[in-house]
Amino acid sequence: MLDVTNVFSVEDMRRFAGEAWGQTGADIVDRWCEFNAKYFANALKPVPLVITNTQPFGKRLAFCSYNPDASGRTITLNVPSAHKKLLADNNTLLHEMVHQFLFERGENAAHLSPGWRREIMRLTKIITGKDIWAGPSKTVRRDGVVVRINAPHPQTGEASLPQKNSALAA
Ligand SMILES: [Zn+2]
Repeated sequence: MLDVTNVFSVEDMRRFAGEAWGQTGADIVDRWCEFNAKYFANALKPVPLVITNTQPFGKRLAFCSYNPDASGRTITLNVPSAHKKLLADNNTLLHEMVHQFLFERGENAAHLSPGWRREIMRLTKIITGKDIWAGPSKTVRRDGVVVRINAPHPQTGEASLPQKNSALAA
């Protein structure tokens, strides 16, 4: 496969997103750069950002599309056509950047992988100052019924961030 990962620059990101989506595109590139510096020590490689206005992926705001082995590298953000909430929705961009970070480190980037849970805990601490516990998903028997939970902290017993939290599920 053609390796373009070293030649696609932040300038390329800007040119592409600005040409395709105008100010909105440029703003998202700025946000990506800001997050890359603030949360990832600039470790992430510049990546094409794609903005869609349709909702082809159900109700998801972003398509977790970062899959370089299958389809090349992009982050696709699904922005409702009245995109007032776009920049309010920075969680969506950050979520995709966590996938990118794990892929680029060669780690499992799936939701609830050990790396994913580690990054959610790390980022939550940076953003909110709070320690949270994101436990691995497991099944337990409650009142004779098997249910899936996120395991509490093994030492402190602290309850996990629930699975339905948007940081853990896409
Ligand atoms: Zn995701």
